[in-house]
Amino acid sequence: MNNKLYGNLIFELSHKGRVGYSLPKNKFGHHELPTIARRSVDAALPECDEMTVVRHYTNLSENNFGVDNGFYPLGSCTMKYNPPINEEMANHHDFTDLHPLQPEDSVQGALEAEYMLQRMLSEITGLSDFTLNPCAGAHGELTGLMIIRSYHQSRNDNKRLKVIVPDSAHGTNPASAAVCGLEVVEVKSTADGLVDVEDLKPLLGDDVAAMMMTNPNTLGLFEKEIPEIAKLVHNCGALMYYDGANLNPLLGKARPGDMGFDVLHLNLHKTFSTPHGGGGPGDGPVGVRTGLEQFLPRPHVVKDNDGHFSIIRDRQLDNLDVPTSVGAFLGNFAVVMRALCYILTLGKENIGMVGPLATLNANYIKESLKDDYELPIEGLCKHEFVFNGLKDKSTGVTTMDVAKRLLDFGYHAPTIYFPLLFHEAMMIEPTENESKDTIDGFIKVMHQIAREARETPDMVKTAPHNTPVKRVDDVLAAKHPITTYRQLINDNN
Ligand SMILES: *Cc1c(COP(=O)(O)O)cnc(C)c1O
Repeated sequence: MNNKLYGNLIFELSHKGRVGYSLPKNKFGHHELPTIARRSVDAALPECDEMTVVRHYTNLSENNFGVDNGFYPLGSCTMKYNPPINEEMANHHDFTDLHPLQPEDSVQGALEAEYMLQRMLSEITGLSDFTLNPCAGAHGELTGLMIIRSYHQSRNDNKRLKVIVPDSAHGTNPASAAVCGLEVVEVKSTADGLVDVEDLKPLLGDDVAAMMMTNPNTLGLFEKEIPEIAKLVHNCGALMYYDGANLNPLLGKARPGDMGFDVLHLNLHKTFSTPHGGGGPGDGPVGVRTGLEQFLPRPHVVKDNDGHFSIIRDRQLDNLDVPTSVGAFLGNFAVVMRALCYILTLGKENIGMVGPLATLNANYIKESLKDDYELPIEGLCKHEFVFNGLKDKSTGVTTMDVAKRLLDFGYHAPTIYFPLLFHEAMMIEPTENESKDTIDGFIKVMHQIAREARETPDMVKTAPHNTPVKRVDDVLAAKHPITTYRQLINDNN
């Protein structure tokens, strides 16, 4: 921490009467708003000169950590580089000035962009059609499960209320199933970290709606038994759901639709390059196999025979009297634009390099560090992997300590204490864009931290040492976050 203005609010820098603006001379005489529309007391706005404002916000912005200023190996989150061209396209005024309710004829370009992405995602995943409407991964899961429920209901198969979820799944899977009014049944993993088919068999029956799978799973491992699992699940009349939030390692190489999955969601804000620190914005498109298209939510963009793009709304499809689709709007358009731009920039050939490079980077880090960090499951990983803390458990240095010490070296910490299968989980995911130099730098620091843990453990246990904020009380911060600031109208005024 230096002596800049860290920690101050702009309000605390206020001095009564100080101004950072000058308004043009009033040429129109004095006109008061009616009393009813006026404050009785002036708003307590900060009064600052321009330089103070500029420095204050510039210093604050420098406290931010992002993919653009450092390595960000946050497992499961796929913090990949967001090329500025994406931003340029998403911010183009031809798109940003549109009104969501404009007539179709006046927004053909925007509809074409949506339609193109629907088609590209279908091709990438091997599914028949897509909706771009859901605005997050979890939102996509809920939409996908509602589609599955509608499918069963359309067949009068109403007793299918169970969803099978692996114990390694992302927490949103059971949460979405529960929100959808379905019962979550957990299937165990084998010692190798894959879905245990023997544990699955007795769970299957005519009350199961779907099986949710993540592949590569949350440990970064490729689920090898998918053909067998898909057969078992389909034989009992249930559908296969694919959590494709992290499609990165499969991109251009393998397609969930070819593996027997019926419904899937993707996270455009992970795999398809939209910045998503701090919880947004996102988009969680849902794809379905042939035969399930009528359950996709409306509105939905289609291309007519004459090349015109139109939006179908509920009840219009096949002139159905009863709506079959689960109902939203056309998604997060700027995120759609970024994904489209990302795919078009890479092109068909280069998109097939994303998975192999991400996988190479992950395996390189894993193999380089496994002498110092405990690798609970050996073997090839895909785009990410999990360590179970330091190998040498006698030092008392925890995964939390290692994560905090990494901050001192200018790296974002990996995902920690998730997945829950290991007590000291540390989940590392580099992406395809990182250079060997960056990765070697990270490996070197991870080795150094392991050495410090042996030789000067307090150094690690009391980290971070050079960040503006030291350790916060995680539990208190989560349970009782203080999200407002009691304003001190201080002596300055
Ligand atoms: C991130 C993630 C989700 C949830 O996505 P959100 O956009 O955060 O709702 C679901 N499943 C997996 C495997 C994920 O990594």
